[in-house]
Amino acid sequence: MDLALNEEELKRWSDHIPLMWKYTAGIAGERFLQLLKQGTLQASVCKNCNKLFLPPKIFCKDCFAQLNEWRDVSPDDGFIYSFTSLTSGDGRRTVVLVKFDGVEGGLLGFFKPGREEPKIGMKVRAVFKPKQERKGSLSDIQYFEKI
Ligand SMILES: [Zn+2]
Repeated sequence: MDLALNEEELKRWSDHIPLMWKYTAGIAGERFLQLLKQGTLQASVCKNCNKLFLPPKIFCKDCFAQLNEWRDVSPDDGFIYSFTSLTSGDGRRTVVLVKFDGVEGGLLGFFKPGREEPKIGMKVRAVFKPKQERKGSLSDIQYFEKI
């Protein structure tokens, strides 16, 4: 018997546990993602409060009404609310939080790489990936670019 056991092996070992799960984005979220795949943005509408929500919600956060109405939001009506830079293996990228005029909430995405620097309040448009590359996810928006 080999008594020269590796102390590390006594404390822990590595193995794999197979796990699978499916995340759903919820009723409003699924619809929102399917619309993104088609290259459109739609907000849910609360008629009581006269508010639009993007990403859409199925209940109004203010009056708790169930929201069944949808309204198109132009991908060209965004503005940068906030931004930050990320550095990763493929270089530096800027993440922007884009809000749309008259709409509650906002979308996170990348700012178009290049010489243009983002600024708070800058008018931007959502540029979608080519249709065949879209997957029904937020990354279907390739980037936001200055208008
Ligand atoms: Zn409401």
